[in-house]
Amino acid sequence: MKILVPVKRVVDYNVKIRVKADGSGVDLANVKMSMNPFDEIAVEEALRLKEAGKASEVIAVSIGPAQSAETIRTALAMGADRGILVKAEGRVEPLAVAKLLKAIAAKEEPGLVILGKQAIDDDSNQTGQMLAALLGWPQGTFASKVVIGDGTVDVTREVDGGLQTVGLKLPAIVTTDLRLNEPRYASLPNIMKAKKKPLDETTPEALGVDVTPRLTIVKTSEPAGRKAGAKVASVAALVDKLKNESGVL
Ligand code: AMP
Repeated sequence: MKILVPVKRVVDYNVKIRVKADGSGVDLANVKMSMNPFDEIAVEEALRLKEAGKASEVIAVSIGPAQSAETIRTALAMGADRGILVKAEGRVEPLAVAKLLKAIAAKEEPGLVILGKQAIDDDSNQTGQMLAALLGWPQGTFASKVVIGDGTVDVTREVDGGLQTVGLKLPAIVTTDLRLNEPRYASLPNIMKAKKKPLDETTPEALGVDVTPRLTIVKTSEPAGRKAGAKVASVAALVDKLKNESGVL
């Protein structure tokens, strides 16, 4: 069974992002970019399944500018077998990403696609669900445990009330939550080896997908700064403030 792992190049989670002066978006000039953290967890899970003999090949896919090849190389250095770069400039919305992944899935015929639950740049949390709908495959989102059976996968999901386990027939879509695993670091020898691994390049046109954005960004602004807090002398004073000042009671 092949496992397809979509990996997105995003602003590194340690970077304090700045909004462009004209409010047209986030300033990406000279900003450190990395693999979306939930996608690192997806790569790790795919590698663990391969190491356990449940998968034969792990394929990393990224959709984005030429530099997204670096993100794929990171996945290859972690242990993925090969990569596919879909070269696309500008914003590619989740629906377009899902359509591109559907086209790749039709060619590669993976048994499992493991995505991150969300990309930390746009926080959409949509691509996995849209891909499942487009392919007509079952989905297990927010996975904290993945167990492969005979033509099936049991996905334990983090839901509001606790944990839920769903049994899915393969092929299926899984999206990762934080507690699924702790991703490995790429070792130096593996980084060197990754340079020789195959990385195919394609385009949205070649895959027959129109990636023109459907949404217009009206404005991007920084969240308002937090107001200073205050200490209260007693519970009665707290209740009074909640009732009469903030109006939450
Ligand atoms: P989102 O729906 O944008 O929050 O993204 C959810 C997941 O979809 C990510 O964690 C990735 O696994 C995948 N994904 C989204 N955009 C891309 C992209 N441009 N290239 C590769 N994978 C992506």
